[in-house]
Amino acid sequence: MLIDPFKRKISYVRVSVTDRCDFRCTYCMSEDMEFLPKKDVLSLEELDRLCNTFVDLGVKKLRITGGEPLVRKNIMQLFNSLGSKLGKGLDELTLTTNGSQLDRYAADLFKSGVRRINISLDSLNENKFKKITRIGNLNKVIKGIFAAKKAGLKIKINTVALKGINDDEILSLVKWCGENKFSLTFIEVMPMGEIGEKRVNQYMPLTEVKSLIQTKYSITKDSLRTAGPATYVHCHETDQKIGFITPNTHNFCELCNRVRVTCTGEMYMCLGQQDKADLKKPLRKNENNQALKDVIYEAIARKPKGHDFIIDGKKEEKFVPRHMNVTGG
Ligand code: SAM
Ligand code: SF4
Repeated sequence: MLIDPFKRKISYVRVSVTDRCDFRCTYCMSEDMEFLPKKDVLSLEELDRLCNTFVDLGVKKLRITGGEPLVRKNIMQLFNSLGSKLGKGLDELTLTTNGSQLDRYAADLFKSGVRRINISLDSLNENKFKKITRIGNLNKVIKGIFAAKKAGLKIKINTVALKGINDDEILSLVKWCGENKFSLTFIEVMPMGEIGEKRVNQYMPLTEVKSLIQTKYSITKDSLRTAGPATYVHCHETDQKIGFITPNTHNFCELCNRVRVTCTGEMYMCLGQQDKADLKKPLRKNENNQALKDVIYEAIARKPKGHDFIIDGKKEEKFVPRHMNVTGG
């Protein structure tokens, strides 16, 4: 079992399977983002072995992410293999996706054992969606979301609140998710990577999102507190749960149960910090998994207490020098 210096049990790993993406969201990457050479990226077999090692070490939940995980060639091979571990050490296999490829993959994902997915959606307006994602197609994403619903997958929509961009859509997103029985979580933008503009221009504190929701809906605090970073409210009119992830206005690290692994096998013990462990070397040595396990144990023993994101427009902006598509959101 993996336990960090603050007695937090690490039972959840987010694994990025590619840094590539078919969108270029303005808050996630710069327009001319350069991607990693393919030779640096772990093969699907290596990713499978890595995930299995974490399961051996007591990890119960795996989230496949990216970049866009569903643009990785033959990705179902990994889902099918990991799905066979469900009920045999692994409790949940899930993914975070932009939804663009779900029309093609939803049924196969369900077949592999995935039951819940997070889909990122920041706008229901076609032009605005294009502006945020630079190249995304909203209709394709909506088609994918409904294909996932039809396949039986439980859907959580994740929306990054962006000042002056989607703040006028908060109420319509609440309504749309309520009507379709999707849960909805709002996220504050985090200072991850250089994006060619100041974060403070995009940043909208979720206290403002909550106030906006309250102009139309009655919400009460929901007692649900998972090991995740979100706090929840219950929206009475839509009978829906709404989550708020507030890395800037409230530090939620005390319950952190997760680590992240990039597609090149770097393990980050905290999204907002720089310390990392190279898992690729022991993984590629391929002698036995003990060397890999030793590196993981050592790294967990260094997991920091928390992040210290600051976006306040006062001081020079300090950002974590990694884009979110690299670390895996
Ligand atoms: N491509 C997939 C997607 O968009 O869902 C998975 C990877 S993406 C990096 C994971 C999540 O990170 C998405 O919900 C996205 O909105 C969020 N994200 C990306 N950059 C962010 C940032 N700077 N601050 C907050 N959330 C961010
Ligand atoms: Fe791609 Fe997801 Fe980043 Fe958007 S947030 S650019 S979809 S990785």
